[in-house]
Amino acid sequence: MFIIVGTGAGGAILAKELAENNLPVTILEKGPYIKSKDAFNYYDKYNDSVDLLTTTCIGGATIVSMSNMVRALDEELHEFDIDLAEAYEYVEDLVGVHQLDDSHIGAGTQAFLDAGRELGLQTLKMPKAIREDDCIQCGKCAFGCPADAKWSGKDFVDDAVEAGATLITEAEVTELIIEDNVIKGVKFIKDGNEEELLSDYVILSAGAISSALILRRSGIDAGREIFFDPFVSVGGYLKDINFNTEVQMAGLVIGENFVLSPHFSSFIRANIPDDSVADKDILSIMVKTPDECRGYIDDGGEVYKTNTIQDIRYLAEGVATAGFILEKAGVDPNTIGSTVYRGAHPGGTAKIGEIVDSNLETEISNLFVCDASVLPISPGKPPILTILALSKRLADYLKNK
Ligand SMILES: Cc1cc2nc3c(=O)[nH]c(=O)nc-3n(C[C@H](O)[C@H](O)[C@H](O)COP(=O)(O)OP(=O)(O)OC[C@H]3O[C@@H](n4cnc5c(N)ncnc54)[C@H](O)[C@@H]3O)c2cc1C
Repeated sequence: MFIIVGTGAGGAILAKELAENNLPVTILEKGPYIKSKDAFNYYDKYNDSVDLLTTTCIGGATIVSMSNMVRALDEELHEFDIDLAEAYEYVEDLVGVHQLDDSHIGAGTQAFLDAGRELGLQTLKMPKAIREDDCIQCGKCAFGCPADAKWSGKDFVDDAVEAGATLITEAEVTELIIEDNVIKGVKFIKDGNEEELLSDYVILSAGAISSALILRRSGIDAGREIFFDPFVSVGGYLKDINFNTEVQMAGLVIGENFVLSPHFSSFIRANIPDDSVADKDILSIMVKTPDECRGYIDDGGEVYKTNTIQDIRYLAEGVATAGFILEKAGVDPNTIGSTVYRGAHPGGTAKIGEIVDSNLETEISNLFVCDASVLPISPGKPPILTILALSKRLADYLKNK
């Protein structure tokens, strides 16, 4: 039997691929099975020193994601003999990656795209996995989708269960059972009781923080480093742009050291000392950069992160470029401000080449890690597609094995 721990980007597709090939799968998920529209209630809390966005529920962070789907780390993964070309094509088709129809590009996004092009920046519509027929253009993508129009890992868990997989929710895996360097199963807490489940194969897909902690409790020293793609939102006043109800992050500017995407933040309105300015009058841009892997997770599960000069320089470059785009798009330059610095894509805690090999297997036989933990460096771009492709590749390897 295969035990899969976690149902986010890494775990959900693995469960689906294995179950649909008639392999016995049990999925252990710490969070509850919820409706997508309720996902906002399942964001995690960290300490005061880091504002990191992750969730604990079915689908993991994919359920609050913007469904942005871009390829990343091609060259870096080649260094580990990993070629994801075929896997990318497969998963892009499976989740339906495409640029949104113009009917779903709002005025704010269009202003961003036009300004980016006028400034000579590499500007495109964001590839997404959103079904336009279902999307009601409410701007609430990061809350969980009220119309269930976005792909999320939950869709693949449903497919896996339909194909015969067993799903146990509200089951927190705490430790691994290992004998003579071979995986034998996991320990988990369900309804306050500690239980054991034995298995020939275990795949940890509990996300960069939890997977690292489970490994560490079981004797593998993961999570001594972490990256998390810092981001800020920069924006200002543009009367009646109504950007807050558009599909979020539907445009993309790719810089050498940053990516920019139109994204509404209510914190921007709070920055402007004029009570007549409302959410509908704000145009803002998310600035995201690849950071150096200089954070760590302590044994209690708290995440700490310091910023290098390079991290700050990249953010500053992105923020300045976002400012030019906003001004070109018609935003009042005297109102342009930024939110505080946050992080959304934790990874790199069990890197390929360090904690796992090119097949994502650890030093313990038949114990694999398949989630953002294994990424060797920060992609600085949305990582879901890369994690899905790595997972599909692992599913093929396990099927053959
Ligand atoms: C608001 C927001 C928007 C985002 N938008 C995008 C986007 O548009 N495109 C993109 O590519 N990326 C996006 N991301 C990032 C992306 O969602 C994550 O990078 C990705 O989901 C990570 O996948 P994962 O498998 O590593 O972990 P997760 O998706 O976090 O999944 C981990 C799973 O493990 C479960 N779990 C945790 N601990 C345990 C345990 N001990 N036992 C059992 N189960 C456990 C969790 O509940 C969860 O289901 C976004 C993130 C956020 C927060």
